[in-house]
Amino acid sequence: ASLDLLAAPVPVAHRVQDRAHPPVPRAPQVFANEPDSDPAAPGNRAWARAVLGRAESSRLGIDTLAASRVTDVGQVGERVRQAAAAGADWASTPGSRRADYLDRAGEVLAAFRSRFIEVMVAETGKTLAEADVEVSEAVDFAHYYADRARELAGIRGAVFRPVPLTVVTPPWNFPVSIPAGGVLAALAAGSAVLLKPAPQAGRCGAVLAEALWEAGIPREVLGLVDTGEGDAGRALITAPEVGRVLLTGSIETAALFASWRPDLPLLAETSGKNSIIVTPSADLDLAVADIVKSAFGNAGQKCSAASLAILVGSVGTSERFRRQLADAVASLAVGPPIDPATQIGPLVEPASGKLARGLTQLGDGESWLVKPRSLDATDRLWTPGVRDGVLPGSDFHRTEFFGPVLGLMTATTLAEAIALQNATDYGLTAGIHSLDVHEVADWLDAVQAGNLYVNRPITGAIVRRQPFGGWKRSSVGAGAKAGGPNTLLVLGEWVPEPGEP
Ligand code: GLU
Repeated sequence: ASLDLLAAPVPVAHRVQDRAHPPVPRAPQVFANEPDSDPAAPGNRAWARAVLGRAESSRLGIDTLAASRVTDVGQVGERVRQAAAAGADWASTPGSRRADYLDRAGEVLAAFRSRFIEVMVAETGKTLAEADVEVSEAVDFAHYYADRARELAGIRGAVFRPVPLTVVTPPWNFPVSIPAGGVLAALAAGSAVLLKPAPQAGRCGAVLAEALWEAGIPREVLGLVDTGEGDAGRALITAPEVGRVLLTGSIETAALFASWRPDLPLLAETSGKNSIIVTPSADLDLAVADIVKSAFGNAGQKCSAASLAILVGSVGTSERFRRQLADAVASLAVGPPIDPATQIGPLVEPASGKLARGLTQLGDGESWLVKPRSLDATDRLWTPGVRDGVLPGSDFHRTEFFGPVLGLMTATTLAEAIALQNATDYGLTAGIHSLDVHEVADWLDAVQAGNLYVNRPITGAIVRRQPFGGWKRSSVGAGAKAGGPNTLLVLGEWVPEPGEP
């Protein structure tokens, strides 16, 4: 049945002023990034206490998630067929109209800020500030991709034909912004979407779907499917109607998906082993602050996190630099996320496998500058650690550990430091701290990573300013960077406009 999207008015979101109808198209240049919450603003302390208080007993998303449970392979096939059929209607909705839905979605996502923070803190252990920036990024994705949809619709001589159905499988570490990015890109391109949230963050995915439905995105066009651990997940990925799979996760998951379906149209953002070079010309105070932020934000559970600092020349032998770094790391407040003073919350799961190794076992020649400690019996609450003397080619140089542990390496020259930085299989983020423009220029020429940052933390890419995505083993498929101009283009193909030669 046709969804009659053209006839249906775009519904009014709560707490949002309806705009003139028909809506005035937004020009791309009016795009501005959504600001994060200002902790010093009047009333925000009380607001933060209230949100954190609710997080303690939060039940948000539970019913929606339960309703989205599909563990039966036959049911998955049915959901996929329905969604692909709805996708045909959505694709024939004019791009400018879809863009209006996305702008409305941006407004509703912003109005859901407190709810998103509550469920992220409750479910994944993020701090309020870490959850807050995710909401801003989700809002940015909505308006940014709305602009891109209008742009696509304005191109003459060819028509962009999206795939009918995209499956989005996000990770638990950015349980709102990453699924929002994938879902909104696909919706903007004109594809229907099935969102399969990460098992550790299902309720975050459920609240995201609730927000987008409230913004008027039809439930047929955006479906939530919680397939659990059994065969249903495989049935979802291998369904022939699925035209794209957008995965953010481990290389192992990408390989598993590809083994299920060798012709899988997979676009994946995978792991990283990222480092920051510090040269003797750097502002060392700033370097320490940015290394700490990049290494230990979200307890180090970011693909973009700094896992290594590579210290050049006199920085590598500086006792003062090490002391300052050690003091900064040791002073981070580790605790439960519902405590407003907490800077590092719990890991999403108890440290095991390679992360447990990274937090406890030193390699040849290494010593602890700051030794990590497990603070409670759950092994989820770890104080951050710094290991000194990481050797080229060692386990810590090359393996992603995905937790609160940083390694220090030293290099005699910048060229040697860049060689160490590039000597991993991955290429996601990389940074340099240097106040010498020639050093920075040499680095930019030689470094192998998707997101390069100079004199700034290497996490926290901002939509449109720093489209996010890597190369080498950090990326699978001809992906375009999230939050960048080409994202929609990988979700379909161009066909000649009817009547064109
Ligand atoms: N986009 C995030 C950032 O720039 C990282 C996402 C991830 O870790 O997967 O920090």
